[in-house]
Amino acid sequence: MQNPEQFQITETRITPQIYDLHSHTTASDGVLAPEQLVERAATMHVTHLAITDHDTVLGVHRAQLFLRENSLPITLIPGVEISTRWHAHDIHIVGLWIDIENDQLVNLLKDQQIKRAARAELIADKLAKSGIADPLNGARKHAQLSDQLSDQLLTRTHFAHYLVELGIAKTVPKVFKKYLAKGKLGYVRADWCEMQTAIETIHAAGGKAVLAHPFSYDLKGKWLRKLFEEFAEMGGDAAEVANSQLPPDRRKLMAELVIANNLRASQGSDFHMPCAWYELGRNLWLPAGVKGIWEPA
Ligand code: AMP
Ligand code: MN
Ligand code: MN
Ligand code: MN
Repeated sequence: MQNPEQFQITETRITPQIYDLHSHTTASDGVLAPEQLVERAATMHVTHLAITDHDTVLGVHRAQLFLRENSLPITLIPGVEISTRWHAHDIHIVGLWIDIENDQLVNLLKDQQIKRAARAELIADKLAKSGIADPLNGARKHAQLSDQLSDQLLTRTHFAHYLVELGIAKTVPKVFKKYLAKGKLGYVRADWCEMQTAIETIHAAGGKAVLAHPFSYDLKGKWLRKLFEEFAEMGGDAAEVANSQLPPDRRKLMAELVIANNLRASQGSDFHMPCAWYELGRNLWLPAGVKGIWEPA
């Protein structure tokens, strides 16, 4: 009889690396807990995942603890998404490979969180005046990670989930369109930190500063170029060139702006919840000619 071991083939598979450098958990406006997000990313064959919650690193902390206890084939990149003011616009700056315990970073995030809590009360007042019942408690119910901190982690998305729950609109985007987008009746302008401050703080925490979804600010032509130019002048490192849904021609335009400003490229799904429109690690590719933020110099 033959020894079956003689016929065993040890497979050495080369698995492609998949970087997803933008995602959310229940620490901010994502619906999956940090542990669930990391597990889902591994299932989707993401090899490098950045958790980038709005103005908090609580989700990163939880995911790190989880990965210490559970071995999964995934590298976690500590990240954050900081809301900033740039001229009249709310611009999001993602920090990657940050030291989540850095004092300067922790202090900036504390500041931003206090602004979030104050803005949430004002949003709730406006929604209440338009006849919506108990909006602050409604939004709080949808902020899941930490009750104690939840007012400081409240985002507009939490209000949107509550309005969907009430049946006032069918989907979160529809609530934004009617109530929460700039100029709509529940919108409150927040006094976020300057873009320069976010970039400097990310650098102080040892991280790379990335211009988040530059294609989603409704900026065109001169203003879009100005955004890239000023971000680069302020010392920014990279800009997002791809998410799961961005069509090739828009990726190409982002790539041109990245190249023109000597920036690196980043990519991420901006995953908030399981849905039909995007998925962790899905359809993230960069046009030719740009260099990924993760690539060596
Ligand atoms: P905030 O930082 O509290 O102002 O909330 C910003 C978040 O709201 C973004 O990160 C998105 O997740 C969500 N958001 C903004 N605009 C829209 C929109 N038009 N449709 C759906 N979600 C949106
Ligand atoms: Mn969000
Ligand atoms: Mn964003
Ligand atoms: Mn985001």
